[in-house]
Amino acid sequence: MGNNMELKQVERNCGNCDVCCNILEVRELNKKSYCNCTYRAEGGGCGRYDTRPSICRDWNCAYILNLIPGGEEVKPNNIGLMFYPVSAKNNDLGMSMIMGQEVWKDALLTSDAQNLVKWIGKRMFVMIRHYNTEEFSYSGPKEQVEEFLIRHHNYMSKQNNLNASS
Ligand code: SF4
Ligand code: SF4
Repeated sequence: MGNNMELKQVERNCGNCDVCCNILEVRELNKKSYCNCTYRAEGGGCGRYDTRPSICRDWNCAYILNLIPGGEEVKPNNIGLMFYPVSAKNNDLGMSMIMGQEVWKDALLTSDAQNLVKWIGKRMFVMIRHYNTEEFSYSGPKEQVEEFLIRHHNYMSKQNNLNASS
């Protein structure tokens, strides 16, 4: 993948990828993040497709939503990163962003991954969770990074005050 990445609206499907059935939390099933779903079928796919929880029904990653450029090489099971849009009302910071998660350790370190993160970060604030940790990297347009830092600082202060008073 080079630096000249263009976003094209193309037909995309999950095919041989099912990484979201491992790395996402599914509260309805008491499934933790980075943990295989009990219903993850051998060879891919969902073992309870017709009765899967609503979060699984509604779920689409940024690859499927055509929000990132590239072909099969940027599919989460190939590049090792899964991205998804998060609206302001669905996160503690009240800020719209693209969230990402490493599918395997150090997936972020390849040049393809770095180029993709750079591409997203030029357009929107992106925060990436490192494989199976609570560590994050972030990037984005300067004003959005500044907004994130302020919101994060305020959120942490509020949490600390709540903890101190409980
Ligand atoms: S991570 Fe994306 S491409 Fe892979 S199975 Fe989930 S929705 Fe499909
Ligand atoms: S219920 Fe099916 S779609 Fe949902 S996480 Fe489990 S295997 Fe994936």
